[in-house]
Amino acid sequence: MTFDVDAVRAQFPILREAGLDGRPLVYFDNAASSQKPLAVLDAIRAYYEHDHANVHRGVHVLSRRATEAYEAARTDVARFVGAASPDEIVFTRGTTEALNLVAYAWAAFLSPGDEILLTELEHHSNIVPWQLVARQTGARIRAVPIHDDGTLDLEAFEALLGPRTKVVAVTHVSNALGTVVDVAHIAERAHAHGAIVVVDGAQAAPHGAVDVAALGADFYALSGHKMYGPTGIGALWGRASLLEQMPPWQGGGEMIETVTFEESTWAPPPARFEAGTPNIAGAVGLGAAARWMLDLGPAAIAAHEASLLARATELVGAIAGVRLVGTAPHKAGVLSFVTDGLHPHDIGTLLDEQGIAVRTGHHCAQPVMRRMGVDATARASFAAYNTLAEVERFAAALQRTVTLFG
Ligand code: PMP
Repeated sequence: MTFDVDAVRAQFPILREAGLDGRPLVYFDNAASSQKPLAVLDAIRAYYEHDHANVHRGVHVLSRRATEAYEAARTDVARFVGAASPDEIVFTRGTTEALNLVAYAWAAFLSPGDEILLTELEHHSNIVPWQLVARQTGARIRAVPIHDDGTLDLEAFEALLGPRTKVVAVTHVSNALGTVVDVAHIAERAHAHGAIVVVDGAQAAPHGAVDVAALGADFYALSGHKMYGPTGIGALWGRASLLEQMPPWQGGGEMIETVTFEESTWAPPPARFEAGTPNIAGAVGLGAAARWMLDLGPAAIAAHEASLLARATELVGAIAGVRLVGTAPHKAGVLSFVTDGLHPHDIGTLLDEQGIAVRTGHHCAQPVMRRMGVDATARASFAAYNTLAEVERFAAALQRTVTLFG
C-alpha cells in the first residue's frame, strides 16, 4: 500500500496557511512541535462540548463521562507504547515533567557516590533534572561520549558502567542530530550492572512505533505536542514494579489514600504521581493522537519520513558550502546543518522569507553542539504530512540563499 500523503495533509487545516512568500508554508519545524490533525482537534472540542467535568471526584453523569474519557486516553497511550497495563502510564505536562518526575522520585534511592550515566546527545531536559538531583543526593553525573558522526561511543559506555552506576538516562532519538540510539542494547548492558534505564522518547514517539517491552527500558517519557497531540500533555511509562516502589514527587489532591495532619498515605500508581486536577482535555487529545498514529501505521509513517530524510540529505549534502551536522547511519527525520559564511539564524530568516520554517539555535542541547564544534545549527525536521516536493523546494531555497548571501 502506498502512503497517501495528500490524504494525510488534508487532515491538517493549518497546512493551508501561507508562508511569507505567499505560497503554502513548508513546515519543517516538526521536532520542536508538530501540527494537529482534525481527529485531535475534534476530540478536544467534543470533550468540552459534551463530557467536561472534573475527573474521579463526582458521582454525577458528566464527571463519570470525563473520567471515562481520561482513562480511555490512558489506555490509548498504553497501547501506543506497548505497556503491559494502562496503570503504567502517568500523564504529565510533557517529556520535561516526566523526566523530572523520575529524577525526583528516584532521588529517594540515590546516595553519595552513586553514578548517573547520561550521554552527550541529551536534551537539557534529560540533563538538568539529574544535575539537581545529583546535587541533592551527592550522586555524580557522567556522560557517554559520541563519535564524530553523532553515534554513541558504545565502548566508552561499557567502560563507564560499573557498580556505582544506578541510573542510565538516554535519549531514544537525538533532537539536534537525529541519531537513533540502540536503547535495547543500552538497557541490556545497564541492567547487567543493576542500573535502571530512563529513556527520553520525545523525538522517537512522533516517528513510529514505540515498544517498551522490546526496548527493555524501565521508564519512557514522551510529549503530546511532538506527536500530533496538544501542548501541555505528555506521558511517562514506568515499569509497574518500579512505579510501585517510588515515593510521590508532588503532593496534592488525588494522589493520596488517607491524610491526617501527622501523615498521609499514597494512592497506588498512576494516581500517586498525578497530584491535582489533570489536563483532561489534553489527555483526550493525546489519546486521539496516539489512535491517529496507530491507524495511519507507525511503520508507514517511519518509512515515509525516511524517504524525505534520504532525499533531503542527498540534495542538501550536495550544496557547496553546506555541512551536515550528524551523519549517523541510523537517523530519524532530522537534518541539522551549518553553512560557510551565514549564521544559522540568518539562514532561518532567509528561508522564512521563502516560505520555509526551520529551527535554528542550540536546540536545548548545548553539550552536543559543543561536541560537534558548532554553537548552533539550522534544523529541518520532517513529519508524516511533509512531501518530497517540499523537500525539493527547501533544498532549492537553501541553494539560492547560500549562492546569494553565503
Ligand atoms: N527531549 C528531547 C529530545 C526533545 O527534543 C524535547 C523537546 N525539544 C524535550 C526532551 C522536551 O520536551 P517538552 O518541551 O515537550 O517537555
